Amino acid sequence: RDTKSGDDSGVTSSRGATKPLPDASNSVKAMLSFREKLPAFKVKAEFLKAVAQNQVLVVSGETGCGKTTQLPQFILEEEISSLRGANCNIICTQPRRISAISVAARISSERGENVGETVGYQIRIESKRSAQTRLLFAQLECYSDSWYCSILFCCQVQDPYLNGVSHLLVDEIHERGMNEDFLLIILRDLLPRRPDLRLILMSATINADLFSKYFGNAPTIHISGLTFPVAELFLEDVLQKTRYNIKSEFDNYQGSSRRRRKELDFKKDNLTALFEACIQRWVIPSYAATKDVDIDSEYKNYSASTRHSLEAWSGSQIDLGLVEATILHICRHEADGAILVFLTGWDDISKLLTRLKKIVLATNIAESSITIDDVVYVIDCGKAKETSYDALNKLACLLPSWISKASAHQRRGRAGRVQPGVCYRLYPKLIHDAMLEYQLPEILRTPLQELCLHIKSLQLGSVGSFLGKALQPPDPLSVENAIELLKTIGALGDAEELTPLGRHLCTLPLDPNIGKMLLMGAIFQCLNPALTIAAALAHRDPFVLPINRKEEADAAKRSFAGDSCSDHIALVKAFEGYKDAKRNGRERAFCWENFLSPVTLQMMEDMRNQFIDLLSDIGFVDKSRGASAYNQYSHDLEMVCAVLCAGLYPNVVQCKRRGKRTAFYTKEVGKVDIHPASVNAGVHLFPLPYMVYSEKVKTTSIFVRDSTNISDYALLLFGGNLIPSKTGEDIEMLGGYLHFSASHRRKLRGELDKLLNRKVEEP
Ligand code: ADP
Ligand code: MG
Repeated sequence: RDTKSGDDSGVTSSRGATKPLPDASNSVKAMLSFREKLPAFKVKAEFLKAVAQNQVLVVSGETGCGKTTQLPQFILEEEISSLRGANCNIICTQPRRISAISVAARISSERGENVGETVGYQIRIESKRSAQTRLLFAQLECYSDSWYCSILFCCQVQDPYLNGVSHLLVDEIHERGMNEDFLLIILRDLLPRRPDLRLILMSATINADLFSKYFGNAPTIHISGLTFPVAELFLEDVLQKTRYNIKSEFDNYQGSSRRRRKELDFKKDNLTALFEACIQRWVIPSYAATKDVDIDSEYKNYSASTRHSLEAWSGSQIDLGLVEATILHICRHEADGAILVFLTGWDDISKLLTRLKKIVLATNIAESSITIDDVVYVIDCGKAKETSYDALNKLACLLPSWISKASAHQRRGRAGRVQPGVCYRLYPKLIHDAMLEYQLPEILRTPLQELCLHIKSLQLGSVGSFLGKALQPPDPLSVENAIELLKTIGALGDAEELTPLGRHLCTLPLDPNIGKMLLMGAIFQCLNPALTIAAALAHRDPFVLPINRKEEADAAKRSFAGDSCSDHIALVKAFEGYKDAKRNGRERAFCWENFLSPVTLQMMEDMRNQFIDLLSDIGFVDKSRGASAYNQYSHDLEMVCAVLCAGLYPNVVQCKRRGKRTAFYTKEVGKVDIHPASVNAGVHLFPLPYMVYSEKVKTTSIFVRDSTNISDYALLLFGGNLIPSKTGEDIEMLGGYLHFSASHRRKLRGELDKLLNRKVEEP
């Protein structure tokens, strides 16, 4: 074998583990010289030495320096050239499927190979890999009951010791995703038992110390980047440059609807203090002089109200007019160069897209996983939609909130990769100063039920003590809530043991509630509606509400709902209509007429098929029997509502009659409102005494989204106990609430478990 030092192409293994590369190929040569210019290349020797000498290594470096594409490749090349090639099995985890696929493709082309040869990928729904594959990029996800994540599951490594894996690289750990944090707990316990396993943690920002400490002061390597300076402009400068009047939004009161006016009033009140304090300070520098005030001390006095305003401003929508004005300013007055705009979500992106072309609009995904080389200008709204979890009120919120300083830094860094750049920050410096250093890890922000279920199924001991070993352990109250929820829906028994239902739920890569709805849909033969509703819950609902045609859109949704008092039924009917229209090739027109998103409906259709596959994998659906075998009751409204109740419980509100209207109460937070986009909004009286709902969200007040009016019998059979019966009677009605005894509940649960058990025992 003859490999020149420093030449990584044309490497062959004597055992034929890898294909010889055509070393004369110009593209591979060009790639090689490109690779050699990446900052990661400079640390190659140091990196390989550290990997050889240490079990754990933490590598940090700016986005684009070559961590993801180069480091695993260095190991691969080293292993191949040292004749261990046929034995090495390198896995690199990715938090998102798109990066797993694109990185595998990139490295394959750097090596002059096809994806699936030496380098492959594995994501939940598909893989490209072969017996030759030595480096696998895998989306990290918890979903297997046999072991904890797809990487391990898919590598046929089904044992807890990860035998067969030689190197594990965990990428993007700075994001502090739940799956990454979870994996780190397991790996820390595993390392002493697998002394030959090498673990490499890769992080974009410089909080490498945190991870190093967690692994007993593991060594760290920092790859310093080759970047150009990026100038930073804050809102105060941007306003001056664009001459945009940020208050103009508040000026057009007459044209707005009543709700919009209320919203604006709310925002205005909360923002005024902040605007007074900081906008005027910078935008009108003469302000201080004319008013003869010491702005700095006045500024401090604002602190309490400012904090309040910061929160209010954080939850408010982005001023897209300002974004547009900034883009136009760059196009008209600055030198040519790509612009990358950070917004909070698809809503903003689609609104802006209709007005602008070719500019890259992105959410925080573009912060680190995707590299666009020629970005010169970054426009940063400073916010991201983030789920947060309020353990006290058992409330998951998805609200735009301020990003961390680390993210802001990351966003800025997306410019200046090939030439100097400019970052336009659409928020004042004050806000930047007040941002958290790092974003809270996901494990501290989300409900933990899915994770708890996995911990149970993997027999990792008590959930509380397992999660107590995390990098930043979650609040015990959140853990308690998750366990309680799992008990309530019947996935865990009184001693926290997995029930038959719980065992099935572990095998579904879904929120336990959604999984339960699918199982019940299959068992009670209303599979079609259950699939549709589950797809919308797991993805998003397809109804669109164009601002200027809201009434028509509302009417269309209501006509799907008929007199069902149910958003979920409206959804089911809309999907059925779409399928009918599709059969006649007129789905576009149907979507247009009924204010539905064809993209979402198509996605839902794909997800439904995935769900059917999942149910068939675990024996709840036998595809050879045909769809009708599982849909005998699909048009029986009461049956569908009952299954819905099984899936959504304990998301229940009680409808209390107050004169000619109805008020709504939940157990945890008391009075709530029906979301304005619901078909139940504005309905005064309901035929049945309860509602089940998909989620409650906190925005201007606490709303329940997507609700369905249901009977107490549905609750009795498919829900659980609301309040234990006081007198010991099986069922009582007290003050409108349905109470039933523990023994009665046990009897019902027992019957259901028997049914589920029969399914387990069937081959
Ligand atoms: P990091 O993981 O440190 O953020 P990467 O290894 O992903 O960096 O990328 C290193 C460099 O390789 C990038 O700066 C970019 O120039 C180039 N690169 C990565 N992926 C691609 C791709 N799919 N197409 C073209 N160039 C790419
Ligand atoms: Mg990377």
